[in-house]
Amino acid sequence: MHRLALVWFKRDLRMADHAPLHAAAQYPAAAALYVVEPQWVHSPECDAQHLAFAAEQVNALCSDLTARGLPLLIRWGSMPAVLAALRRDFPFTDLLSHEETGPLWSFARDRAVSAWCRSVGVCWQQWPQSGVIRGLRTRDGWAGRWQERMDAPLVSVPTRWAGAAGLATGAWPQREIASAGHGRARPLPPAGQAAAYRTLERFLTERAARYRQDLSSPLTAPEGCSRLSPYLAFGLLSMRQVHHATEARIRDLLAERSVSARRFAYSLRAFAARLRWHCHFMQKLESEPHIEVRNVARVYDGLREGHFEPRYLEAWRSGQTGYPMVDACMRCLNATGWLNFRMRAMLVSFAAYHLWLHWREPGLHLARQFLDFEPGIHWSQMQMQSGTTGINALRIYSPAKQQRDHDPRGEFIHRWVPEYGTSAYPAPIVEEHDALERARERMFSVRNTAAAREEAARVQHRHGSRRSGLPDTQRRRKPATRARTSPRQATLFTDESE
Ligand SMILES: Cc1cc2nc3c(=O)[nH]c(=O)nc-3n(C[C@H](O)[C@H](O)[C@H](O)COP(=O)(O)OP(=O)(O)OC[C@H]3O[C@@H](n4cnc5c(N)ncnc54)[C@H](O)[C@@H]3O)c2cc1C
Repeated sequence: MHRLALVWFKRDLRMADHAPLHAAAQYPAAAALYVVEPQWVHSPECDAQHLAFAAEQVNALCSDLTARGLPLLIRWGSMPAVLAALRRDFPFTDLLSHEETGPLWSFARDRAVSAWCRSVGVCWQQWPQSGVIRGLRTRDGWAGRWQERMDAPLVSVPTRWAGAAGLATGAWPQREIASAGHGRARPLPPAGQAAAYRTLERFLTERAARYRQDLSSPLTAPEGCSRLSPYLAFGLLSMRQVHHATEARIRDLLAERSVSARRFAYSLRAFAARLRWHCHFMQKLESEPHIEVRNVARVYDGLREGHFEPRYLEAWRSGQTGYPMVDACMRCLNATGWLNFRMRAMLVSFAAYHLWLHWREPGLHLARQFLDFEPGIHWSQMQMQSGTTGINALRIYSPAKQQRDHDPRGEFIHRWVPEYGTSAYPAPIVEEHDALERARERMFSVRNTAAAREEAARVQHRHGSRRSGLPDTQRRRKPATRARTSPRQATLFTDESE
């Protein structure tokens, strides 16, 4: 029997460094498939911008693949049903895809696909596409394995495939998507792999020179940061491609032996570290998919749930809290779909501590606003910035200090909150001093217990980074990281990133 391959595209919408595409070239006939899944479209994290961005990429990919002989079929429906229908026209024997570290619905979907494949005798082969390790037993040695994977050569792209003939291509399901009621998408970054490369190249050759200085302020970060996150989240670039290009650029700069080139390389090192953080945070969701909906450290269960104030959530997500830096950041994000790391963290800290909101609902709002929504990074960061991981120092951001440090002349605030300073602008929604006193007391009433320390040790063992490179058992535990906002000290561990 001829073996026939079906390449299943998900969040890997590219041709380069694509192991399933490479493998498909070995088959006498192959087709490719992208499925717009109702579970995604109707999920609370999905927004019109995600769908519009995916549509542009899929259409571009469709032209690229078709030109090389491989038809890309676009379908709407649940995966097992789509696969079963397609198999009637194209009796594929092998399903080839990348692994995905996604939300719980995609985890359940993968189980259903796996069961379907077993039931009909299709062989499903999956390849990793980042540094995330499936079935990881211990975090010891993780950084070394990440390095090995990233340093491996890129997978070559075949110039032609033996594409299956006569299959209906299908089209983007506009009507079904419209019925989900997502509304209009906001302006998107340029689509296509060429645009992704251009963004990477311009960053590595020009913009990254000031990366370290520019990444914290919302005024300078839009130009100073790489802006690669949507391209990485939808897989237009693989992490390995970005890693290779960055390391090559660092080597070239160091070979120049000038002070300015050395400075540039130093800036790029900060960027390179974040590429590892990307996978480090995704690994947490891969290892424990339920952290999308429940606390990483279970001792914090019940701490905020009973205090949820819908009025606060509404004011926060519409940029009407009366804290100008918070409101400016939220309005900027809502309009553009992007915000730099520090300002994202400040928004979450404000929701978690000033407003004492549980992280799940704010996290869903942000997931819809971030074009780069990456579940593994997102939910890990939501919990880290809300103090529910048990292993990170409590970080409570003062909006006034962020304003002084990163928008001293108020340019950013005036751009996004033009009514600031007039009677049209609301008074602060909570009194900061009292709100934070209460938040600290509540946090430390749990954090200082023996149960919290035990839980922190468990979490550190399962998810914490091993920066020393030593196994967890041999590593001398770092002394408690002092909580910056309180004179009281809890026994804490540290994690890899801010
Ligand atoms: C509450 C919260 C939620 C977040 N949700 C997401 C998300 O859904 N998707 C997402 O890609 N990033 C998320 N981040 C991390 C970070 O803010 C974005 O990666 C970054 O702002 C994207 O812009 P950039 O590509 O220009 O970043 P750059 O600074 O140029 O960084 C390059 C790449 O490194 C990775 N990276 C950078 N910072 C981090 C970090 N702190 N942790 C993990 N990876 C990092 C990203 O892949 C990023 O694209 C979140 C941060 C916070 C505080």
